[in-house]
Amino acid sequence: MRVKFNLETPVGNSLQGIVRLSGWYIPEHGRRPELYVACNGKREAALEWGSIRPDVSSVYPAQSQSIISGFQGDLWVGEHLQGQELDVAVLDAAGQNRELFRRTYVIGASSAPVTRDRSFNLFDLLVCPECRSPLSKQDPGWVCPRCAMPVHLRAGVPHFLHELGTPCLHLSEQTSTHPYSSDVLDILGRHRAGLVLDFGAGHTPRELLRPHVVYLDAVQYQWTDLVCTRGRLPFRDHTFDAVVSQAVFEHLEDPHQTARELYRILRPGGLIHLDTAFMQPLHGDPWHFFNMTQHGLRQVMAPFQEIRCGIKSYQYPSAGLLMQLEAITPFITSRKWRKTIAKWHKELQAGAGEFDDSLGEFGRTTLAAGFYFEGRRP
Ligand SMILES: [Zn+2]
Repeated sequence: MRVKFNLETPVGNSLQGIVRLSGWYIPEHGRRPELYVACNGKREAALEWGSIRPDVSSVYPAQSQSIISGFQGDLWVGEHLQGQELDVAVLDAAGQNRELFRRTYVIGASSAPVTRDRSFNLFDLLVCPECRSPLSKQDPGWVCPRCAMPVHLRAGVPHFLHELGTPCLHLSEQTSTHPYSSDVLDILGRHRAGLVLDFGAGHTPRELLRPHVVYLDAVQYQWTDLVCTRGRLPFRDHTFDAVVSQAVFEHLEDPHQTARELYRILRPGGLIHLDTAFMQPLHGDPWHFFNMTQHGLRQVMAPFQEIRCGIKSYQYPSAGLLMQLEAITPFITSRKWRKTIAKWHKELQAGAGEFDDSLGEFGRTTLAAGFYFEGRRP
């Protein structure tokens, strides 16, 4: 059977700098694929699969996965490869490493990555996440001298990954992945003389970058300082004056462990501010694990002294309901229901403020899109 796969970018036979790979793929038997790129036979980057493709769905209406068949991810082709040939393959790890694509590219000249102002030396803040020993530099990456854990650098950014983890690079992302709330902006401003961790920063637009903020994410975006997908964090004890984290905790495999780790790396008296999902649809599939009630969030944040915990206006029920209607719309096959849902969406959007007001405080808590927590390390 012919493989239903198409690589749309890159085009041509030469690559340089940040290379976006995108296209669509409909796996057999309706299973979820695990796409990755291998360069010269070495696993180099994971590709995110599952974005909405109505164009593909209209060509393959009988394939239930065609509507979510889009994939994308970036590859960093460094200067060290200039002038060489690179064998690039796309494979599906969930399908016996089936090779879906393969081509040899010539590597062109690329400019050095743009840097930003930082008030800290990242290397000095870090330790081995497993044994907490200081790291040492060992070309081309870093290593833990005690337990020999290697730390790979990609475009100068250290990666602390799960065993066998393949990094996900979104270096070409241009839009802000989750805008800061006014509370978070206020916290960043108040801690200018200290050091703040943005835990799960996503892509931060250049004008919002601050020299005293360390940007950590599970995916490497343009301004990410370090990539970490491990439960144990690679920072020394008492490193930060504040930690902010927006729309991240629902994506953690063990939020209790992460809360304890954030406690450890905050200095005594340090501030933590985070928000997370409650009534929100699946997003970031398959890396979306635990939505939380307000009680659940308090339980997870139990190590901290609570300052306040509740719902912000961007977390009111209308926001969650609109997200839910938008999330199911691409999957509705009935014309009647598509029309009905579109009508509900339009009415709710137009009357969102009035709807949220009418629920009262208890009603809003029952169906909030998410909750926030602010606390202090005693
Ligand atoms: Zn170690």
